[in-house]
Amino acid sequence: MMTRILTLIVAPLSAALCLTAQGVAAAPAPARARGEWIERTEAIMGTRVYVQLWSQDKVRGNAAIDAVMAEMHRIDALMSHYKPDSQLSQINARANQEPVQVDKELFDLIKLSTHYSEITEGAFDITYASVGYLYDYPRHIHPSDEQIQRALPAVNWRNLLLDEQRHTVRFEHPGMRIDLGGIGKGYAVDRGVAILKARGIEHAVVTAGGDSRIVGDHLGRPWLVAIRHPDDPHKVVTRIPLSDIAMSTSGDYERYFDEAGVRYHHIIDPHTGHSASKVRSATILAPTATQTDGMSKTAFVLGPEKTLEIINRMPEYDAVFVCPDGRVLYSNGLRPPAPRPDGAPPAVPTATSPRVPP
Ligand code: ADP
Ligand code: MG
Repeated sequence: MMTRILTLIVAPLSAALCLTAQGVAAAPAPARARGEWIERTEAIMGTRVYVQLWSQDKVRGNAAIDAVMAEMHRIDALMSHYKPDSQLSQINARANQEPVQVDKELFDLIKLSTHYSEITEGAFDITYASVGYLYDYPRHIHPSDEQIQRALPAVNWRNLLLDEQRHTVRFEHPGMRIDLGGIGKGYAVDRGVAILKARGIEHAVVTAGGDSRIVGDHLGRPWLVAIRHPDDPHKVVTRIPLSDIAMSTSGDYERYFDEAGVRYHHIIDPHTGHSASKVRSATILAPTATQTDGMSKTAFVLGPEKTLEIINRMPEYDAVFVCPDGRVLYSNGLRPPAPRPDGAPPAVPTATSPRVPP
């Protein structure tokens, strides 16, 4: 758990200064009133939640972190599939028999999940859980082919019957289950960021598992985000300078076990019921962490080329994929600029689409 944050986000000033040397425009650090970075880590939602923020008043800064952590606990209590009394567990227990009414907030996130199913051609599908529950990674348990074949017909987001007026969820196929593990942390990060902004915080990072969002910059310079090597948490595949943006990294090294040369990991191909292995890791950038979380599983299922086509059609998104053969692929917004014709004006890098050499 420790390695993840260390390898996902590195933001010391010295590192940020390296970026300036690479030619990324960095505003000079403005003179600041006295303040300090404060940070905290807690275990919530079955993962590591981390908040770091710049505060000119330590008491108020800590109160802001308290509020973010409380919000994460609230969301966990509502949406956890581990907690039998959560509303999500109520859906899984009863939606096969009757429409189950839930809070608008949970209803809206389930509805949004079906939007990601639609744009990812079903690669993202919260009903993956109908087969996903047969895996137990810490105990090295995976389903047999026969078990998968039996469970697979229940995996299909189109069999979620959502009633917008009454906020009810009904399963149209027996054996269905849902799990928001692939989008709930991104949503929780966005809620945390909303809380910080409402309290006037202008520089912060909020992380839950593989989902992070950066508020502002690192006091006048971009944060430097490192994408780790899939097989070595201490090796960095690439670094990207970022401000005011969200990012999610999904990897086949997060929750897994290996057996007879096969890696069983926590991202499931809804079409086959097996772990999806077309990339080793996928990092998605976009304005919100709900967006990046919703898209970070896609390349594992559809493959990097097909997913890049989708990402390159959506101007708010960028992506970096580490492929099984070691190639690192970038979306158009992150690619080095093409050679410019003689006399053309120089390209200007944008804040949300920094160009880094592959
Ligand atoms: P993290 O939870 O650390 O942020 P990811 O964003 O990569 O990691 O999400 C992985 C989780 O997504 C899995 O643990 C599981 O709960 C869920 N999941 C797995 N496969 C799918 C899928 N095809 N569609 C939607 N969610 C999935
Ligand atoms: Mg995630």
